[in-house]
Amino acid sequence: MQKIQAWGAAAAGTPLAPMIIERREPGLHDVVLDVLFCGVCHSDIHQARDEWSGGVFPMVPGHEVVGRVARLGSGVTKFKVGDIAGVGCMVDSCRTCGPCKEDLEQFCQEGNAPTYNGTEMDRKTPTYGGYSSQLVVDERFALRIPAGMDPAAAAPLLCAGITTYSPLRQSGCKPGDRVGVVGLGGLGHMAVKLAASMGAQVTVLSTSSGKEADARRLGATDFVVTKDAESFQRLAGRLDLLIDTVSAPHDYNAYLGLLRPRGTMAIVGAPATASPLHPFSLILGGKRLLGSIIGGIAETQEMLDHCARHGIASDIEVIPIQKINEAYERVLKSDVRYRFVIDMASLKG
Ligand code: NAP
Ligand code: ZN
Ligand code: ZN
Repeated sequence: MQKIQAWGAAAAGTPLAPMIIERREPGLHDVVLDVLFCGVCHSDIHQARDEWSGGVFPMVPGHEVVGRVARLGSGVTKFKVGDIAGVGCMVDSCRTCGPCKEDLEQFCQEGNAPTYNGTEMDRKTPTYGGYSSQLVVDERFALRIPAGMDPAAAAPLLCAGITTYSPLRQSGCKPGDRVGVVGLGGLGHMAVKLAASMGAQVTVLSTSSGKEADARRLGATDFVVTKDAESFQRLAGRLDLLIDTVSAPHDYNAYLGLLRPRGTMAIVGAPATASPLHPFSLILGGKRLLGSIIGGIAETQEMLDHCARHGIASDIEVIPIQKINEAYERVLKSDVRYRFVIDMASLKG
């Protein structure tokens, strides 16, 4: 075991502060990453504040991790020392169940090992995330960051990127499709870029009128402020697909009304409390509701390679770890353009 530096929440809702955690010595198939950058996902905030309940504390958040391979187990074939690698929301799974065999480790029937706020597959050893100087992970759960990609701007792809890429792919997004993106935050801005890269016509639906110019720069061709009832009338029945990234409770029924018959609404935003769904919102028009959580490891690599081909990365604001509590408050006010990324060199500062 090695003691390393990290930042985390000692208990639910306490401000994040420096702490020392332990990482295992690398096993045969493990890579040791020196963490360079870690994105700040809204899920980090939900979990550090235990809004989804059942949180494991002390908690070191961070599941948008990019690092440099510092050491390797002797059985590792996918990486060499010095490579840039990424880790998303999972660090292991059972590898043998039906979903795991279908590259759907996010649905592992044993429950996967989340990057933090859970345990390794031994169900004893707590996992700690990327707000830390080092991370040790089996090579199967480490992603190759394509050459030439800025490591800081690549970090948010490991969660925000795959979480929006997967439902676009599951829905067969194709040129000419009319895709609505609800909420222009970390996930939302990636959904806009990715849908546009697939040839879709993107409409952003936002509570923030000040984000219109950004939405268009990111690739949207239409922008509506959801506080205006008129927006809902203008778009009624027009969209093929909606990607809902909103982090707070809101009215799903109103958005379902924007879909064409047989259109799909994909929910990826994860508010802590339930919102009512009226059956008529679905049955009139045969609408489909799709839930989606991150993506499997193979699909995550596919997304990274797609981003490299299309020159896509996240729009980021780099912060030192000492600013993390302030950054959380700004995310809660939708005051981020569009992802905070922690420069882990600041841990030593
Ligand atoms: P984020 O950067 O805070 O973006 C969320 C956006 O939602 C905000 O920028 C804002 O956009 C909009 N919004 C916020 N409060 C709202 C409200 N009360 N009513 C309407 N719109 C509101 O968060 P994120 O990191 O993108 O994460 C978004 C959600 O997805 C979180 O709940 C997170 O836990 C979840 N998530 C799920 C997965 C998954 O696998 N399913 C993965 C990652 C994250 P506007 O200013 O444009 O309105
Ligand atoms: Zn996330
Ligand atoms: Zn499994």
